[in-house]
Amino acid sequence: MNEKVSILNCHVDLCGVEDALERVLSAINENINFQIVTINPEMIINAQKNKTFFDIVNSADLVIPDGVGVKIALKLKGIKINQIRGIDFSRLLIKTASQKGYKIGLLGAKEEVIQKAKENILKEFPALDIAYIRNGYFSDDNEIIEQIKNADLKILLVGLGSPKQEELIYKLKSELKGTAMIGVGGSFDVFSGIVKEAPLIYRKLGLEWLYRTILQPERFKRIFPLLPIFLIKCIISTVMNKD
Ligand code: UDP
Repeated sequence: MNEKVSILNCHVDLCGVEDALERVLSAINENINFQIVTINPEMIINAQKNKTFFDIVNSADLVIPDGVGVKIALKLKGIKINQIRGIDFSRLLIKTASQKGYKIGLLGAKEEVIQKAKENILKEFPALDIAYIRNGYFSDDNEIIEQIKNADLKILLVGLGSPKQEELIYKLKSELKGTAMIGVGGSFDVFSGIVKEAPLIYRKLGLEWLYRTILQPERFKRIFPLLPIFLIKCIISTVMNKD
C-alpha cells in the first residue's frame, strides 16, 4: 500500500514499515536524496502557521504518522493504521545501514548525549560505519552542510527538534547525492539512555506522551494544549469535508 492522505492539508503516507524501508532503499540505490518526516500533531499545527514548514512537509518524500494524535485524526477519517514510531523507524535504518555497510551520520542533541548514543548504538551494531557525528548546537548551517557533504553518507539522522531538523534536511536535499535523511526529534536522548523510553504497556496503549510528560513535566505546557486544538480542527475539517 502506498497511499497518501491529508490531515489539515499536510500529506501523510499510509504505507507499512516494509514499503517505507523499500522506498528509502531504492532512493539510496538510485542516488536520490530522500527526506523522511515523522509527523505529530504539534508539527501539523505548526505547519498551519508556518508556510515554509508547511511546504517542507508537503515536499517530503515520506511522511510517517507518529503519535497517537495522528492515529486518532486518521481514525476520524475512517482510516485505521499500524503506527510506525519514528524512533523504531530510525532503529530500522541504523540496522539496515549496519547490514549493508552504509555510512551513517548522527547530528543533534548535546555533545555528551550524542557521544553516549553513539556508544550504545555501536554496542548493538558493532559493524556500523558512523562516518559523521556532531552535536546539535551550532550557529552556522553552511559549515555543517559542508561537513556532511564531505562525509558522503547514505543515511543521516538529524535530532534538532522540529522545525529546525526538517528545515536543515530540506537544505541538505539540494546539496547531497543519494542520502536518506530523517528528523528524529529527541531520539538521541533515548538512544543515550538519558531519557527512558516508555514501557511497552504505555506504547501499546498510545500513552507514550503521558509517560514522557511524567518524566519531563516541562513538556506538558508545550504539548498538552495542542492536542485538543489539533483534534477539534481535525473534527471540523472532517465534518466540513475540507481534506
Ligand atoms: N536540540 C539540538 N539543537 C538545538 C535544539 C535542540 O540538538 O538547537 C536537540 C535537543 O538536545 C533534543 C532534541 O533536539 O535532543 C529535541 O528534542 P525534543 O524532545 O524537543 O524533540 P521532540 O522529540 O519533541 O520532537
